[in-house]
Amino acid sequence: MPKKPSHHGDLEKFMRGLKRRNPGQPEFYQAVHELMHDIFPFTHDHPSYAADAILERLTEPDRIIIFRVTWEDDQGKAHANRGWRVQFNNSIGPYKGGLRFHPSVNQSILKFLGFEQTFKNSLTGLPMGGAKGGSNFDPKGKSDREIMRFCQAFMSQLAHYIGEDTDVPAGDIGVGSREISYMFGQWKRLENRFAGVMTGKNLAFGGSLVRKEATGYGAVYFAEEMFTQIGGDIEGKTCVVSGSGNVALYCIEKLLHNQAKVVAASDSSGTVHDPDGITWEKFEFLQDLKENRRGRIREYAEKFGCQFVADANPWSIPCDIAFPCATQNELNGADAAQLVKNGVKAVVEGANMPCDPDAIAHFQENKILYAPGKASNAGGVSVSGLEQSQNSLRLSWSREEVDTRLRGIMHDIHKKCIAHGVEPDGSVNYVRGANIGGFIRVADAMLAQGLV
Ligand code: NDP
Repeated sequence: MPKKPSHHGDLEKFMRGLKRRNPGQPEFYQAVHELMHDIFPFTHDHPSYAADAILERLTEPDRIIIFRVTWEDDQGKAHANRGWRVQFNNSIGPYKGGLRFHPSVNQSILKFLGFEQTFKNSLTGLPMGGAKGGSNFDPKGKSDREIMRFCQAFMSQLAHYIGEDTDVPAGDIGVGSREISYMFGQWKRLENRFAGVMTGKNLAFGGSLVRKEATGYGAVYFAEEMFTQIGGDIEGKTCVVSGSGNVALYCIEKLLHNQAKVVAASDSSGTVHDPDGITWEKFEFLQDLKENRRGRIREYAEKFGCQFVADANPWSIPCDIAFPCATQNELNGADAAQLVKNGVKAVVEGANMPCDPDAIAHFQENKILYAPGKASNAGGVSVSGLEQSQNSLRLSWSREEVDTRLRGIMHDIHKKCIAHGVEPDGSVNYVRGANIGGFIRVADAMLAQGLV
């Protein structure tokens, strides 16, 4: 048995301390462990990066704001939800990160997301710090007016803590253009100012072209980079996408642009399997179903006569590339084993932390191309950063200009992963590449700024 390197024990000690200080936060431990697994050996070789308690400071959010959100439903009944904003780290720019509205939201999930966001934003090369927020409010089944009243109540609390040079929230699960618009409207009413304080805005009032598509497109651009690296491409590849929300839809659209074949999509009620592949006509139906009618994925199977499997994820369906685009820990070790058995060549995360640690280990052991979300889903926040730039300039760039910049950013992120992730056998460990590439810039800024 080879002897574990000395930093393994240090990492376990570090994690024990983290768990003691943050009881009951499994998602946060998972995200920290995944990063520190690569950062401990790195700081061992570069001790200046372990100075000034950098790693302890990086795992302690700058602040967490928790507030009550009181709102009234259509029957005049009052409800109280909880709202959060985790302002994790602003060493390299104003806080930036989405808001999630989902009944599962809690402090552990928002801390994991804010932590990941810090390093993802660093990888983009843009001046953005890391944050995340949201509420345990469930938007499903609510009327449009109920959504509006909730968003207004949420923003009445959050408005005290955000600003175009302080913290610029965006969307995430359950928060799309409608919710951003209601929150932005309330912020404007409270502040009597018009400023780029949120991104993902409607195009009519400061939104950016390609923002809606950016995370899904960016994931496919990243997949193209990975295949180019090994002398291949994604044309003709069979793909499975989980989810059918913002990220999944535009991942599917860009795969269609690339002549790939998408045979599955899902939502929290189950999976549709369409062996003939999603065509443009079927995509338009799915987009309208999810973006406008807010319907369930079963309707796709009913309309096009293919299979719907209730309560199932899509990972047992054979494919060349898997794009998990729904939520955290949606793909476990057993799912990974099934994908590998079925011949998967690449797994590219559109969601945040969708593959659990067993799944990641399985992909890496089997030399499957595996891209972690902090690299491959950074397209969304990148175009959010470009939306901020356009708002500051009081200009709107063309679709081509934004898309070209997005492609360039995904290319540069891929380059950073290569710079820090190449293995002795020439293969690329994208997890290590993204972790070290993201860490260095944040740590450099913190070291330069002193003990703050
Ligand atoms: P949406 O709310 O638009 O879509 C989420 C999709 O995932 C829906 O199809 C939803 O199904 C499904 N889903 C959500 N929770 C679960 C669950 N517990 N089990 C199974 N399916 C689930 O969110 P986004 O597309 O914006 O976000 C998806 C992921 O991508 C998240 O991890 C998010 O953090 C990440 N991400 C998003 C970015 C963005 O720009 N939007 C940027 C970077 C990352 P249903 O409708 O039935 O709930």
